[in-house]
Amino acid sequence: MNVLLLGSGGREHAFAWKISQSPLLSQLFIAPGNPGTAQLGVNLPFGYSDFPAIIEAIKTYQIELVIVGPEEPLVKGIRDFIESQEDLKHVTIVGPGSLGAQLEGSKDFSKNFMQAHGIPTAASKTFTHANAEEGLTYIANHSLPIVLKADGLAAGKGVIIAQSHAEAEKAFKEMIFDAKFGEASSKVVIEQFLRGIELSVFVLTDGDNYVVLPEAKDYKRIGENDEGLNTGGMGAVSPVPFATERFMELVKQKVIEPTIQGLKSDNIPYQGFIFIGLMNHEGEPYVIEYNARMGDPETEVVLPRIESDFLSLLIAAAQGKLKNENLQISNQYAVTTMVVAGGYPEEYRKGDPLTGLEKVEDALIFHAGTREQNGQIITSGGRVMALTGTSNTLERAIQKSQKAAQTIQFEGKNFRRDIGLDVLRYNS
Ligand code: AMP
Repeated sequence: MNVLLLGSGGREHAFAWKISQSPLLSQLFIAPGNPGTAQLGVNLPFGYSDFPAIIEAIKTYQIELVIVGPEEPLVKGIRDFIESQEDLKHVTIVGPGSLGAQLEGSKDFSKNFMQAHGIPTAASKTFTHANAEEGLTYIANHSLPIVLKADGLAAGKGVIIAQSHAEAEKAFKEMIFDAKFGEASSKVVIEQFLRGIELSVFVLTDGDNYVVLPEAKDYKRIGENDEGLNTGGMGAVSPVPFATERFMELVKQKVIEPTIQGLKSDNIPYQGFIFIGLMNHEGEPYVIEYNARMGDPETEVVLPRIESDFLSLLIAAAQGKLKNENLQISNQYAVTTMVVAGGYPEEYRKGDPLTGLEKVEDALIFHAGTREQNGQIITSGGRVMALTGTSNTLERAIQKSQKAAQTIQFEGKNFRRDIGLDVLRYNS
């Protein structure tokens, strides 16, 4: 089978790495990919939201399966666009249509969905320009801290946790009146703050059946001990000890099954990933957010733990045949450390040559913000590379990942030295 993978980050390199191990794969194409995916397939020179170029490539390379990595093309309706082509009815897709992708594309939509289907989540209310005054009154009467969320996609930056009413009011006004996140903040969800431990759960569904992939914990802040600005993710660990069998059973009963059933009863066909950001609040799962795709860098720890043929699972999900699949997960620990460019997540350096790649031993290298220039790999994005260590012990997996992060060299390199240490303390 010829496969087209859309995306260019560490997540997509991890996908390409795993899919290339499958005997079901004929040829892999990645658009636009990165220097890592170029070693595993053919990178195509167009963006992941360039719909006409995607259609052209599907025809030229006789693609039968399209795997959508990032959220943007999903929310923009890449699935609907491919499905609307008369001559591409044979093409199957991993990733929901634009309606299903609203679970991620609109916080208001996902809150309404959860409320309609009895899925536990923080109490909330949505406001727009039209009822902004009401929003300000709602804030004034709200307990602290107050969570404000831009309704639409805001590259992971649209959530503000305000510690005072004044801060919440300011953030609310910036979103609604100054369009801080553009159209994305024309609606704002104001939400109750939930205390607890966070966990990411990944489901692959064909719309009826589902498999639960390994869970993960990610590290969002730039600084050690979760200090400083939010990033796209500085590292991840899997498995997570607080995802006990009992807790995961609750997640299945109270979250996953009502989600799949809810999509069905709302007539939202859904073939693809559902990434559920959860809070374990006093032993009970609450949904913080849905994403309509895999996480990055969580994919870089989830996929190394999957022993089954991952392409076979993806084909089955896309074809509605997941029932026949069986998912084998390894007991190993996986830890990934992101090395990032100096300055990230604010203005950051670009174009610095990377060295030491060939010296990395015993860790997986997943390219993210890199590109090739005159035979040399240089930095081209904030998050440069994910380095995954796997081992029977968490301690060893951390060491492997950290050693690889130290070995890679470039001007201005930064990475967190505490990825997984909290989990290690929890375990002991
Ligand atoms: P989101 O983009 O919805 O995942 O939010 C980003 C981060 O904000 C989450 O990973 C949580 O750490 C935090 N967060 C979001 N909503 C809440 C909430 N209701 N209570 C506590 N923390 C939250």
